[in-house]
Amino acid sequence: MSSAPDEIDFDYATTLADRANGFMAQHRVPPTPENFAVWFFYAMGGSLTLKKTIDILIANKRKFDSLVNRDLYVTYVRPYSDPGLSDDIPDQVHAVIASAQEFLATAISDNRSQMESLGEVSSECQAVADPRPIIEKLLKELSSATSRSTALEANFLRTTQDLDQIRDSLKLAEQHSNTDPLTGLANRRSLEAFLRTAQITSMEAGTPLSILMIDIDYFKTFNDSYGHQVGDQVLRLVGRVLQESVRDCDHAARYGGEELIAVLPGATLDVCAEVAERIRRRIGEARLTRRATGEEISSVTISVGVAQFRMAESAEGLIERCDRALYQAKRSGRNCTVRESSVDEEIAA
Ligand code: GH3
Ligand code: MG
Ligand code: MG
Repeated sequence: MSSAPDEIDFDYATTLADRANGFMAQHRVPPTPENFAVWFFYAMGGSLTLKKTIDILIANKRKFDSLVNRDLYVTYVRPYSDPGLSDDIPDQVHAVIASAQEFLATAISDNRSQMESLGEVSSECQAVADPRPIIEKLLKELSSATSRSTALEANFLRTTQDLDQIRDSLKLAEQHSNTDPLTGLANRRSLEAFLRTAQITSMEAGTPLSILMIDIDYFKTFNDSYGHQVGDQVLRLVGRVLQESVRDCDHAARYGGEELIAVLPGATLDVCAEVAERIRRRIGEARLTRRATGEEISSVTISVGVAQFRMAESAEGLIERCDRALYQAKRSGRNCTVRESSVDEEIAA
């Protein structure tokens, strides 16, 4: 029995498994199913970013602890083993490919028979003196060729439209899976993917990378006073201000309930803190009104933590430090920005 076209060769798979086991032993990674999947993928060269990340971690002598291992699995392997968002898309693609193949086969065979008919006419042309029947035949050939090509053109158009539709639905599915529906910002999944790439770029190019984390002050009380819907309106406002305050190359996302994060590639801690302050001031100055009645309601404030990426630290590590700065901002009375480095200084003091 012949094997399926995408089935991996037994010997090749065994070699990869041996290599993965070797790497895991070398870097003291426990051989759990998840870790094995990561290192098998690494040995296979299945993902360029996974390879880069692991190589950078190795070059920086970073320990593959449970946090890093989980990170690698969640980022690079799990998305590929997920059954997916639109299960019907592969079937749809197969159907269109089959129809495109049929279309091409028809077009080719039509073209060939047309060429043969024209060849016959041309040899008759050399043998016969009276050209009229030949002209008749040519006209007939041309007219049937025209109707055939019209049918082919219609088929071609249909196939192209099907492909366009599939491309659009794939794009939409991807957008949905990366977007927070309430604020329209990127979601946590998208943020983590962006951060991972930004970390690699920062390490490779030796450029700074900073993040800021926003949390709305006393938001629970605000919701209790004005209702969840007005709360949602405020959340959208903070999201909009955040989005408008960062550059196109930055990434603004809703990290959790009322916590937003922006990743600023190339920004130092100082630059990031300036951006954070700008956002904080704009939110504090915003006049809020109830949509239904136009009645003015009390303004909200935000607290912000900022942190700069340290070579080879994990995404979780960076976010955790930023969260510590945010916590410090809350403890300092809220409506302020705290840099993670000042948290360090305070701990050292
Ligand atoms: P703090 O200043 O310490 O941050 O106080 P807080 O009340 O904001 O803090 P806490 O974390 O206790 O409460 C967060 C609140 O955020 C709880 C919840 O009502 C609100 N929240 C989270 N997600 C949403 C959301 O999607 N919409 C609305 N309207 N509120 C949300
Ligand atoms: Mg919170
Ligand atoms: Mg809050």
